[in-house]
Formats: sequence, structure tokens, C-alpha cells
Amino acid sequence: MGIPQVSTGDMLRAAKADGKLPADLVAQMAGGALVPDGVVIGLIDERTRKDDCAPGFLLDGFPRTAPQATALDRLLAARGQKLDRVVALEVPHDLLLERAVLRRADKRTGQIYHLKYNPPPPDADLEVRTDDREDVVRKRLDVYEAMTAELLPYYEGHGILRRVDGVGSVDEVSGRVVQALDAK
Ligand code: AMP
Repeated sequence: MGIPQVSTGDMLRAAKADGKLPADLVAQMAGGALVPDGVVIGLIDERTRKDDCAPGFLLDGFPRTAPQATALDRLLAARGQKLDRVVALEVPHDLLLERAVLRRADKRTGQIYHLKYNPPPPDADLEVRTDDREDVVRKRLDVYEAMTAELLPYYEGHGILRRVDGVGSVDEVSGRVVQALDAK
């Protein structure tokens, strides 16, 4: 769609790789907890002000709490912008667990693989996300239910929520997401 993907998780991991993420935030991420709302709201505010976001942007992994959602509404309203669409990818927890636990990334290219669904080539130099350990993934799913799930009725009330079946191949799910974004 020619617009930037703005991912708070990617931004936090990049800050960590640069040695710029404070140790307490590194520990929160590694344990599957959310980092404080103010941190991610600041990241989103700064990133979405950049010129490449002028035609629009796609937020990934944000907002994740009610205060983040209201801060986002306020921040966009102050600029005369608004959210057009919210896509909820619906996937059973046992499948999410399998997707995360068997996820690997090539250190050199950043390419993401899955040991079962998208196996890496033999020469890949693989690493595992620290928060993709099974116990941490379970914690992340609990955090989602406790902090994030309540955003679905919030956006449903605004008439912009589209629920998408996230079970299927990458192509199938991508097709459904594009359809959900295009549909009025
Ligand atoms: P993700 O790559 O979206 O799965 O995010 C990885 C981790 O980064 C999360 O488990 C949190 O620790 C942190 N994080 C990313 N986005 C947010 C957010 N919107 N609010 C709080 N913490 C976040």
C-alpha cells in the first residue's frame, strides 16, 4: 500500500540492539510484560510525525492498552487525522503458541522463518527471540487477555473494527487482511 509499517516491538528491539533501551525495559520485554504506556506513546508520536507517514501508516502492535488507545485518538485528533480501520487477527492460543515457539530469524538478513510452516535454508544463521520461549509466550497471551482484548469492543463501538480469521497460510491471511482494509 506504499505506507510505512510502524511497529512498537520492532522499534523497541532496534533500541535494544543499539544498546539504547534501559535495562528495566529490556527485562520487561524479555519477561513478556508490556513496557510503560508513556514509552510506546512517545515512540509512536515521534515516528508518525516523520514525512514518510504523511500519506498514512499502518500500526503494528500498538495500541495494546486502553490508555494507549485514548492517547492515540488524542494525538491523531490534534493533527486532524483519525484511524480508518482496526484489524483484529483471530487465532486460537494453541496455534499462536506454536507460531511463536517455532519462530526463528536469520541474524544476517532479519528474514523470519518457522521451523514447521516456513523452514529456513540449511545455511541460515538462526536466532530465537528471547520472548518466544514457551513460558514467556504464555505470559504474553495472558497479558493480551488482561490488557489488550478490551480494545476490541472499544473499536467495535467506533465502527472501525474488522475481525479477520488468522488461521491459514501467509497468502490466505494476507488476502483477508487486504480485503478487510479495502472494505468500507
Ligand atoms: P511485539 O514485537 O509486538 O510482539 O512486541 C514485543 C514486546 O515489546 C512486547 O511483549 C512488549 O514487551 C513490548 N511492546 C511492544 N509494543 C508494545 C506496546 N504497544 N505497549 C507495551 N509494550 C509493547
